[in-house]
Formats: sequence, structure tokens, C-alpha cells
Amino acid sequence: MFRIGLGYDIHKLTEGRDLIIGGVKITHEKGLLGHSDADVLIHAIIDGLLGALALSDIGTLFPDTDPMYKDADSTILLQHVYELIKQHGYVINNIDCNIIAQKPKMMPYIPKMKDVLCRILETDLNNISVKAKTNEKMDAVGKELAIEAHAVVMLRKMD
Ligand SMILES: [Zn+2]
Repeated sequence: MFRIGLGYDIHKLTEGRDLIIGGVKITHEKGLLGHSDADVLIHAIIDGLLGALALSDIGTLFPDTDPMYKDADSTILLQHVYELIKQHGYVINNIDCNIIAQKPKMMPYIPKMKDVLCRILETDLNNISVKAKTNEKMDAVGKELAIEAHAVVMLRKMD
């Protein structure tokens, strides 16, 4: 039995913050603004995981009004959510993601992001796809005001 989930996230780019995407620190003059570390890719994946089992969403599970999640490491949040998925009897079948960023180039960091995701989600590299695009200089993402991410998650019921 399979379940599919869709995740989306966007964060504003701002000065004075680290840029962390897919659990990897990226060299850039700006970072993403958020209550947690604002890891846009991991947040999209978390929402995809939760969505696949109709378990609400990241904002419900980790409220941004809760001081516990201030500057939280999103890889830890992902670990919590994956535990929840396993408690429901499911594992990762495969994940496909897009990061939409005008700058900086994501490509050099993608292998490391995939390593982080495979380790946390206990799956093989060929089950995790991370793709990157620009927004052709259009809209908030294209004007370098924000970075967004999309994820489609397919879960498989454990035997
Ligand atoms: Zn987010």
C-alpha cells in the first residue's frame, strides 16, 4: 500500500542569517528568515511526509509561537516526523523535490543534501531526488527576495 503527499514552503531571504537548505550550510551573503533555521527544503519534505498520512502539517506540529522551536535545527524536526511516520507503519518509497532559487547555485550542495536526507530517512540515494531551478528572474524568488521548495513524497506500508 502506497500513500502520496505534497509539500511546499517559502522563506524570505534576509541579511544576517545563515542559509541552510537540506541540512547543508550554503555560502551566501543572505539567509532565510524564520522561527526555526528556516530550512525551506526540509520543511517542504516534512509537509509532504505529514500530508501523505493526513497528519496535519508542520505549523500544527511545531508551532512558530513555541520558543522550543526558535532557531530549531530542521533536521531534528525531520527525524521526529520520520519517527511518527514509522509509528504509523510506513517507510519512504521515494521523494522528489525542487528548490527554486535565483541565487546562489544549489548544484554543488545537492549531493550533500541527499546524503543528509538519506541518513535521516533511512533510505537509499536512488530514492531521493533533489532538483534545483531558478525562477528566470521573475517574481519574489527571481528577484532574490525568497527561496521556495516543493516535495512529493511516496510512502510504502512496511511488511
Ligand atoms: Zn518553513
